[in-house]
Amino acid sequence: MQDKCGVIGLKVDSGEAALQIYYGLYALQHRGQAGAGIVSYDGFKQHTKKGLGLVGEVFQQDDMEELRGSSAIGHVRYPTSGSINEKTVHPFNVNTRQGFLALGHNGNLVNADSVREKLEGIGHVFTTETDTEVLVHELARNLIDHELVDAIGMTMNEIDGAYSMTMIYNGEVVAVRDPRGIRPLCIGKLAGGYMAASESVAVDVLGGEFIRDVEPGELVILKEDELESHKLVEAYAAHCFFEYIYFARPDSCLDGRSVYGVRRRLGELLYENHGARTDLVSPVPDSGRAFAAGYAEAGNVEYIESMMKNRYVGRTFIMPSQAKRERAVRLKLNPIEPNINGKKVTIIDDSIVRGTTSKQLIDTLRENGADEVHVRIGSPPIISPCNLGINMASRDELMASEKTVEDIREAIGADSLEFLTVEEISEVLDIPLEDLCTGCVTGNYPVS
Ligand code: AMP
Repeated sequence: MQDKCGVIGLKVDSGEAALQIYYGLYALQHRGQAGAGIVSYDGFKQHTKKGLGLVGEVFQQDDMEELRGSSAIGHVRYPTSGSINEKTVHPFNVNTRQGFLALGHNGNLVNADSVREKLEGIGHVFTTETDTEVLVHELARNLIDHELVDAIGMTMNEIDGAYSMTMIYNGEVVAVRDPRGIRPLCIGKLAGGYMAASESVAVDVLGGEFIRDVEPGELVILKEDELESHKLVEAYAAHCFFEYIYFARPDSCLDGRSVYGVRRRLGELLYENHGARTDLVSPVPDSGRAFAAGYAEAGNVEYIESMMKNRYVGRTFIMPSQAKRERAVRLKLNPIEPNINGKKVTIIDDSIVRGTTSKQLIDTLRENGADEVHVRIGSPPIISPCNLGINMASRDELMASEKTVEDIREAIGADSLEFLTVEEISEVLDIPLEDLCTGCVTGNYPVS
């Protein structure tokens, strides 16, 4: 199962940790809309509330009174290719002989099957198909004979893949990032405590001060008055470049870079190296907006919105059939006819996955009188699914998996189509290609 999720954890001296987690989860809602959960610890007991749906749907005011304690973690879950049920909503919690353990995970383990088989062989019983349940069992097993930090270290040496996670163990709040730092995770300082979260926007909404990112392979114990850091495994960075392109919120900072700033600069490069001379440039809202702003600035091209997004339509990407997805794009994006009629238009988006959005948009723009429609994309063609925590599509659904750029242009009906290259992305991020995970666009993954 693959998840693009959001995690958060905090330790404060006020005893109202869960309420802060609740607000923090709102800031991370874009990372998962299928389920949400909070676990708190009050010094004696662990309290849990989880459910399917958005943060605002899962938690009621009464829950915050139940979720007592000065330690808490939370999670928002993104749907996988299969269905999601209550049992698969994080945090996962278990009561062990040594105490209470709860864990929320963003990412995807690549060796969960073999670890699960090993654990089943010694009597562990699983209730879901998730890799996170395997991770929790492995950790709980290591906790039988070892202290928390050692047990986490042993677990990190056992599991492989992407994992940014927050956990509570008998009230200790811990943040851990995998040795490649594939998914993001950062630390903030709050009044009376510390927090960790997938993205810095969660620190912002809590009025905290951003401290730094959790380093690849680092374990951080959050205390009321200090951070305790441990490096337990050898690290070799392979940050997911797609976080910058699409997943993270533009107002976040990832590994020291403003996501908005990166997208805007990528937009400039799209013009400088791949520009089309048209009357105007328009973003696909909202994913193409920062790219289009950079493109317009670099080319001195008029920036104008040529379509509006209906915010009340859910994500079209996860609709189960292609026909429904196409209908949903129409529902979601409606053209502003006077802005495009008789015009040569450049449309900018961050990515093409199945090609549904671009094709529908181009058809609609032409029906509304656009003379020419040129498409520029702020990432390379996606040719391969992600096994490290992002729900993309299967290989045969990916438009670029078998098609050349010219084939894609024809299929979506654009007058011209160009993509950025991985080299251009590496240049803008100022991160060497070998320190990035580019598996979805190159087929070369940092894990086997
Ligand atoms: P598609 O219509 O299938 O080509 O998908 C492209 C659109 O989906 C773009 O507007 C992206 O912003 C967005 N997108 C890209 N990756 C994902 C993802 N993994 N989940 C949801 N939406 C995505």
